[in-house]
Amino acid sequence: MGFKLISFDYFRLKKIKLILNKVNAQASSMARLTDEELRQKTIEFRERYLSGESLDSLLPEAFAVAREADKRVLGMYPYDEQVMGAIVLHQGNVAEMKTGEGKTLVATMALYLNAISGKGAILVTNNSYLARRDGEEMCPLYQFLGLSTAIGLSEDPSQTLTVDEKKQIYNSDVIYTTNSALGFDYLIDNLADAPEKKFLRDFNYCIIDEADAVLLDAAQMPLVISGAPRVQSNLYKICDNFVYTLVDETYYHLDIEKQEVWLTQKGIDEAIKFFAMEHLYVSDDNHRELIRHITLALRAHKLYTKNKDYVIESGEVKLIDKREGRILEMTKMQAGQHQALEAKEGLETSQEMRAIASITYQNLFFLFENYGGMTGTGKSDEDEFIEIYDKEVIQIPTHNKLRRKDLPDRIFTTLPEKIYASIELVKELHGKGQPVLLVTGSVKMSEVYSEILLFEGIPHNILNAQSESKEARIIAEAGREGSVTVATMMAGRGTDIKLTAESKKLGGLAVVITERMESKRMDLQIRGRSGRQGDPGFSQFFVSLEDDLLTEWGRTSLQDYYKKQVTHRNVTNPEELLSTYFQNSVEQAQHASDAYGRNSRKDTLQFDDSLKLQRQIVYSERNRILSNESSQYDLREIIVSFVDETLQKYGKQISQKDLLDIILTNISYDFDNSFFKQEDYTISEARQLILELVDKQLDEKDSLLTTDKQKESFKRIVLLKAIDECWIEEVDYLQQLRVLVSSRRAAQRNPVFEYHKEALKAFDNMLSDIKLFVVRNTLLSDVTIEKGEKMNIYFA
Ligand code: ADP
Repeated sequence: MGFKLISFDYFRLKKIKLILNKVNAQASSMARLTDEELRQKTIEFRERYLSGESLDSLLPEAFAVAREADKRVLGMYPYDEQVMGAIVLHQGNVAEMKTGEGKTLVATMALYLNAISGKGAILVTNNSYLARRDGEEMCPLYQFLGLSTAIGLSEDPSQTLTVDEKKQIYNSDVIYTTNSALGFDYLIDNLADAPEKKFLRDFNYCIIDEADAVLLDAAQMPLVISGAPRVQSNLYKICDNFVYTLVDETYYHLDIEKQEVWLTQKGIDEAIKFFAMEHLYVSDDNHRELIRHITLALRAHKLYTKNKDYVIESGEVKLIDKREGRILEMTKMQAGQHQALEAKEGLETSQEMRAIASITYQNLFFLFENYGGMTGTGKSDEDEFIEIYDKEVIQIPTHNKLRRKDLPDRIFTTLPEKIYASIELVKELHGKGQPVLLVTGSVKMSEVYSEILLFEGIPHNILNAQSESKEARIIAEAGREGSVTVATMMAGRGTDIKLTAESKKLGGLAVVITERMESKRMDLQIRGRSGRQGDPGFSQFFVSLEDDLLTEWGRTSLQDYYKKQVTHRNVTNPEELLSTYFQNSVEQAQHASDAYGRNSRKDTLQFDDSLKLQRQIVYSERNRILSNESSQYDLREIIVSFVDETLQKYGKQISQKDLLDIILTNISYDFDNSFFKQEDYTISEARQLILELVDKQLDEKDSLLTTDKQKESFKRIVLLKAIDECWIEEVDYLQQLRVLVSSRRAAQRNPVFEYHKEALKAFDNMLSDIKLFVVRNTLLSDVTIEKGEKMNIYFA
């Protein structure tokens, strides 16, 4: 198996090298061109593309042009390895290139080639500072080659971009932006209520920088746009109180790997007692809200830990981005989970908002015609890239040979022993003047280390939740001789540590990492801070049996060992655990933790399947209406079918009272008492009466809406309003449904299956609601026309 994989990679690279040779063959002829002639090439490529030549066939020349322009404009000529990376990006796979190999430059070739189509090429990264910085640095290159460019972010984050500004951005050839800006723009674009408010083109080509951060880590939580506040529920506090009564695991079942928790039968009995009810069935609509809130409270207590998953800051629950070790501002857990945490922490419950639009990153990127990714570490997750995204991860060789040494882990029984030993190493290295990057797993530990270093009299910089631009300065200093930098997880920050000549002589950057992270990939990312572009250096992990990774995911035998040992340990003389048993145990714990991450991403995607399907249908219907294809809808036809369906429920006869009810709620207020002459009506009589009123209403509208344009736009508004109102309800309902189905594990049911079943039912209900809203919006609305032009519609 191992052999097969290696040979597979070998052939993949070989094919890429064949294309590289073709690019190299063009180099000298492009070098001879004047600037103006180079620019002309873009026009030539566009013409050739329009007359049918494929981008693949244009690649060798286009890459050679971009490469030559890189040299002239940016002063950097892409190495062969960088060209290979760009080929992978164009082929829609993930290029793994180590830190410092120059991925920013790699992207220029693939973006240039794909922008030739005129359909736009987007570079996406997960950090707005980097998106802007890279965009500003690289855009002169595309402009030199005659392409238009844009940065897809507002310069002042407190100000949103106008529709016109967005139109200009998304019509550019090359765009630098972030995944969240792009995702929100997609959702916002699909909330537009008039054609002129839409600003996006179809998604064509995109490169995802730090692809693992975006496609794996960020993909665990869907993007959500919140709308109006929800009626505040008083169930949070009382359900929180209830959860306190569940004293042990006989009342609930906890599945750490799936991150789910649900009541056992004993727990359900307890709930029935606590809430003084006769039973507690999910199928009973009256109980749904209660069950949902109990589930939220259970999750808050059993799945989320204070100071690890979230912190309390000025009376608010704030989430922690574990990967980057920083607080996620402005981000709240969805569907009431945040409020349940607030209840658990005894804080005031914040306003719960309705979700009005939502998408996962997976499904966002599936919308692109083609997209590639680049990252320093992706190979360890290639299976997932293949399974979910259908993307191979191709390891590009480094330009210079990697000289960093990755030493085996040093493992200790207790946390203090580990800290003591790691500090000893830092002292030793600092004594020699070798620069040290000391990485901790949490903000809190970075502070602990900082204090010990102060105590030891070792000057150092500390990098945790500070501003990103300040980070860049600290990173710039981190490669000097004698410097010590304490940092939390710093993946994806794109700031690489450059060494001075003196520190290279001293052995390069030493990366001392004080715990194994929850995923292998993160470990590799931290290691990769050292040894860039053939620099010397080494990396060393310190682990203790008390680390979160091992207590949460490790074997129980490790904890037994720990318990036996822990009482008589001498901290100042730490004993290292050298046997391979411990080394393997660390690997195994990390493996378990990685598996959890993978499962939860798969879950997110599986749950999003229903929403995806419904979103596609609704969005494409909206787009048809917006692009003035609403002429295919006949409002009267919709109304007649609604009337027929409504009357069907009454069998053969309908009473005057019921008929009046139907008319008043849906059709018209505009009739007098003499209109009804009988006590009971046959269905066909009733139908005739209703349609008489319908036609009267429609005629009235028709006489007001004199021009075709007015008629069209009335129809468009009526339809969109109906769709939007119902769709927003649906998105919000589906979000809540997710929490609800997880409580059904108790009944041994498959939550994903249950979810899809309920979602389909909800979709059908939505369709009939839309019809109902169209009828009411058409018939019960009032229209006025101002000065023969501006139309106002007042909905009932
Ligand atoms: P990565 O994102 O892969 O870690 P960067 O794009 O930040 O790497 O580039 C690292 C450094 O290497 C930058 O300072 C960049 O200017 C430099 N660099 C990249 N490619 C080249 C090249 N072909 N010639 C010279 N310098 C380069």
